[in-house]
Amino acid sequence: MNQEYIDGLLALATAQARAVKIPVSQEIIPSVRLNRRARTRFGCCIRRDGKYIIELSAQLAEQGSEDAILQVLVHEVLHTCCGCSNHGARWKGYAQRMNDAYGYHIRRTDNYSELGIEDNRPVRYYVVCGKCGRSIPRMKRSPLVDHPERYRCACGGVLRVEEAGKEQPYIGKK
Ligand SMILES: [Zn+2]
Ligand SMILES: [Zn+2]
Repeated sequence: MNQEYIDGLLALATAQARAVKIPVSQEIIPSVRLNRRARTRFGCCIRRDGKYIIELSAQLAEQGSEDAILQVLVHEVLHTCCGCSNHGARWKGYAQRMNDAYGYHIRRTDNYSELGIEDNRPVRYYVVCGKCGRSIPRMKRSPLVDHPERYRCACGGVLRVEEAGKEQPYIGKK
């Protein structure tokens, strides 16, 4: 993966948006900033001194397909439009226009499987049985993690969820 390749995709994302009359900012810094630490998001649009910095997860840059990278870049580029710093109606309308025009699946949030990259985050939760003490590691949220009260351990015990460590922020779909 090289910077020139990613920057080329940013130029393409911007050109595609302009081709369908989406008024993306003229002040986007043409070099994508790769973020090696972010695990909570795949891209970010930062406004600074009237310019826009587009940030991309280094893992996505390295492992993602061209389509997946482009999709995240387009998502962020749309945030440079006037009135689009959030995921409000205007941003959503532009995202829909890009989806219709180019077959993207841009939405408010992306996840690892949709982007086709490996979820290598460490264990986040333990589902623990209050009766037998069995502890089930879980890397991400699931119906079991969200609603342990709906389930029972094989021994019949009541389950609860414990967070593995507070130093890693939770990564959610929504
Ligand atoms: Zn966004
Ligand atoms: Zn049990």
